[in-house]
Amino acid sequence: MLEPAKRYTGYTAYEYLEPGVDLKEFRYAKQIGRVPPYAGLELSGVQRERTERLLREEIVISLHDHVQVFPEDMAQLREHIRTGREPTGYEGLARSGMTAVFDNGMDGTCCISSDAGWKYQDVLFDLGVRMADLAHQDFVVKAGSVADIRHAHETGRLAHVFALEAATMIENEVDRLDVLYGFGVRQIGIAYSEANTLGSGLKERGDGGLTYFGERAVTRMNKLGLAIDISHSGDRTALDVVEHSTKPVFITHCGSREVWPTSRMKPDALIKACAERGGVLGLEAAPHTTLSAAHPRHSIESVMDHFTHLVDIIGIDHIAFGPDTLFGDHVGLHNAFAGNLSIAQAHGTVDFEKVEYVDGLENPAECFYNIIGWLVSHGYSDDEIRKVVGGNTLRVLEEVWV
Ligand SMILES: [Zn+2]
Repeated sequence: MLEPAKRYTGYTAYEYLEPGVDLKEFRYAKQIGRVPPYAGLELSGVQRERTERLLREEIVISLHDHVQVFPEDMAQLREHIRTGREPTGYEGLARSGMTAVFDNGMDGTCCISSDAGWKYQDVLFDLGVRMADLAHQDFVVKAGSVADIRHAHETGRLAHVFALEAATMIENEVDRLDVLYGFGVRQIGIAYSEANTLGSGLKERGDGGLTYFGERAVTRMNKLGLAIDISHSGDRTALDVVEHSTKPVFITHCGSREVWPTSRMKPDALIKACAERGGVLGLEAAPHTTLSAAHPRHSIESVMDHFTHLVDIIGIDHIAFGPDTLFGDHVGLHNAFAGNLSIAQAHGTVDFEKVEYVDGLENPAECFYNIIGWLVSHGYSDDEIRKVVGGNTLRVLEEVWV
């Protein structure tokens, strides 16, 4: 982990509001040191210096994370989410070394945040209050273009890119994509676990592929310059999107089904098709997703088994990282929403040992230090590391974010 970024002045989320008067108070999880630091890297002095230099100097982009802080007590989770004010973890982000992070909203992706069906309004509310908070400080800045990311890099800031896990909230109104884009959303998933008007999610029994409306939506996303994510879409829907989109598509947070056989992972044929059209796959690290037979106890080592397999099948130019971490108890979050997130369906009958957290990739503050450290200690060159920690993503964004 790095020293805090110089630009970070100690700002905490919504500090311009009065706790207990304007917003409900919760005890939040620690952003730094909630779990012990990863001990598995064993870098020499020279390797440590190289890791820190790369993290400081390169454009480092997380294709998928959740940068909010969650309540310390996960029993308060639903009450917390209902307030619609998720605090950004500025303190942790200041030590992450990231240049840009795709921060993903879950609203309306499945029946988590809203029981009343006001999904579209929920998204706009959440985006609005998060932006109001971002506007009160000058370290984490809203980004909507490659120029914004480069500017953040040059000025020691962190570019914050709004993303949504699924497009479910547009219902059957394609113009809502324009509204979301206008509010700052720059990447959107097609379907989450559940099917929607665009296509099928990976939880469904059958997958009818991209719908006619889904085709219209993909075309509009291409025209708007809205990056597309197929991580949670069903296999056939995902392939249809790759084929229908005129721009490269992202699989922002996933791994290979060849390495770990669950429906949450993507088949290699789909990963190859995505890469052949110029797309990039970001490696996922949410608890109990990217496991491997060699490392069935989820840690950075299991994730890197997916990495080395992907290098073999699609090459270094089509790989990135979307660790999908957050500040707080991710396993507790999964347990609270197991029914909504299709976790049981994703695992099927594969046996694995449950962990309390993913060692080495537990939160947004530590991910890229450990990823780069792992790559340095496994003989990857600066050029290869530059590509997978940000360069490949930047190349695709230059094509997609017109
Ligand atoms: Zn996700």
